[in-house]
Amino acid sequence: MSSQVKRIKVNLNKKLSSSYEISIGHDIIGKIGTIIAENRIADRYVVVTDSNVSVLYGELFLKELRKAGGEKAKAEIIEFPAGEASKNITTALTIVGRLLNLGVDRKSALLALGGGVVGDMTGFIASVFMRSIPYIQVPTSLLAQVDSSIGGKTAVDLPEGKNLLGTFYQPRGVFVDLKFLNTLPASEFNNGMAEIIKYGIIDDPDFFCLLEEGVEAIKKRDEAFLERIVTTSCRTKKKIVEIDEKDQGLRHILNFGHTIGHAVESGSEYKIPHGSAISAGMIAAARISERLYDFPSSDRARIERLIEAVGLPGYIPEFIRTEGVLARLKWDKKKSGTMINFVLLKKIGMPFVTAQVTESTLREVIEELRK
Ligand code: ADP
Ligand code: ZN
Repeated sequence: MSSQVKRIKVNLNKKLSSSYEISIGHDIIGKIGTIIAENRIADRYVVVTDSNVSVLYGELFLKELRKAGGEKAKAEIIEFPAGEASKNITTALTIVGRLLNLGVDRKSALLALGGGVVGDMTGFIASVFMRSIPYIQVPTSLLAQVDSSIGGKTAVDLPEGKNLLGTFYQPRGVFVDLKFLNTLPASEFNNGMAEIIKYGIIDDPDFFCLLEEGVEAIKKRDEAFLERIVTTSCRTKKKIVEIDEKDQGLRHILNFGHTIGHAVESGSEYKIPHGSAISAGMIAAARISERLYDFPSSDRARIERLIEAVGLPGYIPEFIRTEGVLARLKWDKKKSGTMINFVLLKKIGMPFVTAQVTESTLREVIEELRK
């Protein structure tokens, strides 16, 4: 059953031209084509997707686009192998070659149909192809729906590190169809849940309570509940991005759990999923906040309980060495040439940024979380 489409406006730069809408609903694939056609973003569309999403939704999506655009509507699809390993400049150049072969020009738009990998890479190509063409995000993973599709960060990875080549380039629209989540594997679902919990912790104690009360609904992937929490998450992300589009201040709070989380992720050589790594990172940040800044231990316990209740691991697996995690944090510090900023908490909903965390505190907290 298709639902009402909720629309959230993202206002950037106070310029109307760079504003766009996030449309959210259940089974809205059919409406996406109509809304795009109404807005006359381009006269030709190329869907970029990965091999998994293409099998599930590629043809269906193209059909809807063509239906909405009428007889003359031109829509093609380009797919690349699923997975983070594809998010590189070689894949980007292959896609660019395909675009040139198809005769794509600046009157065309790209549609990113997929998870964060598809979104980041399609946005990157759109931002540089022929000095930029429009693109639209159609995120299909929970993580992309609540996080990476909103805010206009685009990138590919380099051998030296993730997301090292990229731009800020806003999409012309974001379409969040919750129906895509029906086919999402559990570990991918959990990656998105970790970001949703993060929004509760950094922005909204009421939302955090809602998540605590909704653990069963989350586990059942209850449609109405998911729509509610995805919508709140999109609103939070858009609010933060509106204030700090280019990541110069407030947007840092979105890194809650990510400083240690990224170090754990790379310390595992990317063997553990992003959601698991940032769950451990969020708990580490809560424990550091409790030790150093009087963050209430009851709040810290609530964070740990919620993370574990939704099925995310709140610990750092045995095979990840503490020294490896610390080395990665030091490397971050050296690379940026400044102190590492940690996002810590005064209360749930009240984050702050500080560089005042000593190595010994970090070591102790990381050790505590090892299992
Ligand atoms: P993320 O979205 O977490 O940043 P990816 O773009 O790699 O990372 O997506 C995660 C995985 O989930 C990929 O293998 C992708 O093909 C797959 N995927 C994305 N959306 C769906 C979906 N709706 N159903 C099934 N698999 C999906
Ligand atoms: Zn993240």
